[in-house]
Amino acid sequence: MATEDPILARLLANNAQWANDVETAEPGFFAKCAEGQSPKVLWIGCADSRVPESVLTACRPGDIFVHRNIANQFHPTDENALAVLAYAVDELRVSHVIIAGHTQCGGAAACHAAAAAIDDDVEPATPLARWLAPLTALARDLRSDVRTLVEANVRAQVANLAAAQTIRDAWAAGRSVAVHGWVYDIEKGRIRDLGVSLYGA
Ligand SMILES: [Zn+2]
Repeated sequence: MATEDPILARLLANNAQWANDVETAEPGFFAKCAEGQSPKVLWIGCADSRVPESVLTACRPGDIFVHRNIANQFHPTDENALAVLAYAVDELRVSHVIIAGHTQCGGAAACHAAAAAIDDDVEPATPLARWLAPLTALARDLRSDVRTLVEANVRAQVANLAAAQTIRDAWAAGRSVAVHGWVYDIEKGRIRDLGVSLYGA
């Protein structure tokens, strides 16, 4: 049985304990969750296990709508990201969309390393290389260290977000939805606001 696996058994036991603790501290919390969600924040972050948005912001179920992928990308043609954005902005009416990068990002480091050998005539061979192709191109253009690339990546995704139809329509309609760029410092456990927030067209 899968639950005999100690890794999985620990997850399930932790969950049972957590659910008990939450319900004891705040009776009715889960029943309230079941009624619906109204998060104020959409977090677009990296899939890295060291950057769990709700843990490091001390948030709870219901607080943050989330989209995470390798190297916190918001590609203009990514239907997955576009659907998440549309649902968050048009249905849930979030007030803030945060692009969250982080130091020690393996995706950014891989792009930094691959940038020197990039060949525009050759299609990337793997899903991961295709996914990271725009970031590899940015690394090639930037010729910076990885830390600077991480920040430039956040800025680029903020720009991609601001150009997305969902955001442009929301701003055109005078709705209040801001776009932000943050970097989480894995070494310190602290988030830095890059100061690139956009509040409207
Ligand atoms: Zn990462």
